[in-house]
Amino acid sequence: MQASENSNDDFLFIDDSDEDEILDTSLVGTWKVLIVDDDPEIHSVTQLALSDLIVLGRRLEYIHAYSGADACKLIEENNDIVVVLLDVVMETDDAGLKVVKYIREDLNRQDIRIVLRTGQPGYAPEESVIKDYDINDYKTKTELTRRKLVTTVFAAIRSYQQINTVNQSRIGLEQIISSASLLLEQQTVHGFADGVLKQLNILTGGTVNSIFCARGQGILKNIDDLSFYILSQTGLSGILINQKVSTLKNELASQMVSNCYSHKQHDFSSKNISLYLANGSYRAVIYMELEEELPEITQQLVEVFLTNVAVGYGNVHLFHKLRNAAYKDVLTDLPNRLAFLQALEHFATSTNDHLATALIDINHFSDINDGLGQDIGNQLLIAVAKRINQLSVDNTGSNLLVARIGADVFGVIGSDDIVNPEMLSALFEFPFSAEEQHLPLTACFGFCRKEEAGSDGKKVLNQINIALNLAKKDRQNHAIYYEQAMEDKTLWRLGMIRQLRTDFADNRLELWYQPQLSLATGKVNGAEALLRWRTEDGGFISPAVFIPLAEYSGLIVEIGDWVIEQACQQVKALEQQGFEQVTMSVNVSIPQFRQGNFVASIIDRIKEYQVEPSKFELEITENILMDDPQMVIDALVRLKAEGLRIALDDFGTGFSSLSYLQQLPLDRLKVDRAFVTHIAEAGRSIIADTIINLGKKMNLNVIAEGIEEVAQQEHLKTQGCHDVQGFFYAKPMPADEFVQYLKENS
Ligand code: C2E
Ligand code: MG
Ligand code: MG
Repeated sequence: MQASENSNDDFLFIDDSDEDEILDTSLVGTWKVLIVDDDPEIHSVTQLALSDLIVLGRRLEYIHAYSGADACKLIEENNDIVVVLLDVVMETDDAGLKVVKYIREDLNRQDIRIVLRTGQPGYAPEESVIKDYDINDYKTKTELTRRKLVTTVFAAIRSYQQINTVNQSRIGLEQIISSASLLLEQQTVHGFADGVLKQLNILTGGTVNSIFCARGQGILKNIDDLSFYILSQTGLSGILINQKVSTLKNELASQMVSNCYSHKQHDFSSKNISLYLANGSYRAVIYMELEEELPEITQQLVEVFLTNVAVGYGNVHLFHKLRNAAYKDVLTDLPNRLAFLQALEHFATSTNDHLATALIDINHFSDINDGLGQDIGNQLLIAVAKRINQLSVDNTGSNLLVARIGADVFGVIGSDDIVNPEMLSALFEFPFSAEEQHLPLTACFGFCRKEEAGSDGKKVLNQINIALNLAKKDRQNHAIYYEQAMEDKTLWRLGMIRQLRTDFADNRLELWYQPQLSLATGKVNGAEALLRWRTEDGGFISPAVFIPLAEYSGLIVEIGDWVIEQACQQVKALEQQGFEQVTMSVNVSIPQFRQGNFVASIIDRIKEYQVEPSKFELEITENILMDDPQMVIDALVRLKAEGLRIALDDFGTGFSSLSYLQQLPLDRLKVDRAFVTHIAEAGRSIIADTIINLGKKMNLNVIAEGIEEVAQQEHLKTQGCHDVQGFFYAKPMPADEFVQYLKENS
């Protein structure tokens, strides 16, 4: 304890018992002591008694108040007052106690130490005041010898400091807990590093510069060396993220980072500190330049903080790995469907109107996979992925995103001068290589322009999907842009398909028959079986409407089976009623051919009903040849070999090449109604005439359909057309009516 040298007041005497405790030469700051007393003399005596006192390395600084009211004002203004030496009786008997109440209750300052003093011995405040308001000490003024005063003030300040330390670490710990949980939620390494530096800056009370570093390998994408890289920075000029620490050209920083990393421990020894952060094999070092050395308490807090967030550092890497697994396609290394969907989310909300997105679906890929094996299939997919990706290499700045979103489906998002039918189709102009094979591939494309895009990723994916499905169905156009109208149509179509499915299950489909007649004899020699869909209200939905839906949904396979069975039954029933000359024509669609057992199932049915095969005719349209001509030709050849007859329906309206036609095992050509309608008008019979001629040259039977007038019949006669079918003779009719018709017209 140091006493004032010129102390001559007998009120005081030197007490040197605590000398060691208060001898401290590094004087930083002061302790503010408020003396409250209405007697000015007490002020000077107190100040004198405590002069030159140094407590825990600091001198005292005095503030004076001469009334309770004054005191309250001063305490409010000076929030760094640590001790109040407070007279109890001033302007009122309890003025001092009011100040106590004000400090504890109104200002809610629990840390300020209060020493009550009273001039009147015996006039002591109640014990409850001392307990309730956390009064440090209570002294009568006569007790205040220098020795007692010094001891009291010393104890009060020490107690203040302890409270303060606890408080500080409490706040620090609260901060650590809340920041640690924030950091646990971080999903990127950079975000995590940013968060850690931000929290450390707060904890250390304003760092000048700091960097968060880790070895590149295994931490940074596409970086494979072991140098230290900066993941986050504060306070340093320029953007240093993902740069090597050496680019800082700060020898001390480089040295400290590498030392800390190899010694695996913090270094708090100077104003420049290095901190070690590790979770398993994930290790990092933080280098900070501080304004002053960190006090012990803060060092401890920083340590606690780092131990706490280390788990988060491990997590963020784990998360990254999982994320990679969740968002990458393993085969091609492209982003996968989930990642594409996320990118579409950005696309949907982007303000750039020159963007477009597309799906690319490789045609018949499953056949290639089945035929050539999965290895070749995989290599082809990798080759396709590479070629699509090459677009972004060739068009730098295009920001093209390429993803694999299904087995043989790729998604792209980018500027519309790249994501367009021309650019994407061009990718498939040359064959793709897999092992020694060079295979040509074709694809369908569904596009959506930004201006047409829905409000979120899922909607956009649906839109390009709609366009893609239409492109797959469209025989001429393999690249289609999404339009709103398509969606309306899709909805309508889905509703119709659903209805068709239930109505078919409920036996609401009927097979009607339209007579076919020989032109030479005028006698009925056959019938075409035509589907009818009866609606609730007794009307009919045209097959021209629902057959495409049945084809689109695949429902035509089941329906077609039923049609064949009905037709067989009908032939049998007609035979039994004596109409043995009547052949039966049945229309078939491409999805039926795609069923592996199509040929066998027809033959089975025919045998089951003992139908003479030559009385059973399949009507195919030219368009059936568009997709996979060889498959259809093979099936027809087998059916023909069984004795069935094959007719080419709607001839002349499709797009098949004559070379395929020649390969078809045909028995009959059907001249479409379109060529018959105007046949009797001068100069408008040329196509029908040619078809009839062609049929005869090919040794085929020729039947014309859609005859509605006698003049049309007469013209056909002159051309030597064999058979006819049309409203002029009879409309399609239910089975019982057809029997009746036969009875009346045979
Ligand atoms: P399609 O095979 O060309 O059938 C001939 C169509 O022409 C029938 O229309 C028939 O009612 C109509 N027609 C016949 N003569 C005349 C006429 O003189 N004037 C006019 N205006 N029309 C005539 P429908 O029954 O509406 O069938 C339309 C199409 O639906 C058929 O054309 C066929 O492609 C398809 N279709 C019908 N039933 C089936 C079936 O069971 N399976 C398959 N796959 N398609 C079927
Ligand atoms: Mg037909
Ligand atoms: Mg036809």
